[in-house]
Amino acid sequence: MDHDRIKEAVALLKQSKKTVALTGAGVSTESGIPDFRGKGGLWSRYDPYEYGTLGAFLNNPPKIWGMLAELLEVVDAKPNSGHTGLANLEEMGLLAGIITQNIDNLHQQGGSSNVLEFHGSFETFTCLSCGEKHLLQYVRETTIPPVCRSCSEILKPDIIFFDEMIPEPVLQETQELLAGTELLLVVGTSCQVQPAVHIPYQVHNNGGRIIEINLEPVLTELAAVSLQGSFTQVVEQLVSQLQD
Ligand code: ZN
Repeated sequence: MDHDRIKEAVALLKQSKKTVALTGAGVSTESGIPDFRGKGGLWSRYDPYEYGTLGAFLNNPPKIWGMLAELLEVVDAKPNSGHTGLANLEEMGLLAGIITQNIDNLHQQGGSSNVLEFHGSFETFTCLSCGEKHLLQYVRETTIPPVCRSCSEILKPDIIFFDEMIPEPVLQETQELLAGTELLLVVGTSCQVQPAVHIPYQVHNNGGRIIEINLEPVLTELAAVSLQGSFTQVVEQLVSQLQD
């Protein structure tokens, strides 16, 4: 770990009047959740066109639940010290909120309170027939595919499938959170997926600075500071220096 760069990042965090984090799969890998897009990940074993669209789900819910049952195992993870570190930053008044592309609820479990879930959440499940919502706990305790307790239709997880739009309220809250953002922490994401791909550029074009934390930095041209390393190690160092 480059100590000068950590110092630079700490200085930027102290200076910034509003800091927001954008997180992706890389923050959850140290909790044992493999990157869905990575080697051996979900989308290397299930064709996203065959399994990852709302159309596919509506066509054959039991088939898609074959894959979702695997997700059910995967999301049974615990937050890591990076998640709790980001929650510490929020408590210290140094982080206004988190925009995450993850569906695993680990930021909230780690103690963060202002979390926008770009791709929805695997914490709740909606009946597309009557609209009733069900919690993850209900789904865990029932048979697969889980059915609505009111009308027995198969439930859909509240995740955003590849062919679905990000809900308008989430996009609006994202813009509200990004307004006036002076510093963006890009963490554990290569920012290749729409529409998260635009966020670093938006902040940069509005005069904001970028700190990137990635195992393999990808935003080196855009970022004021690129911190190469694991999510937990880098965030632990930032938090401990900020607490001094
Ligand atoms: Zn129902």
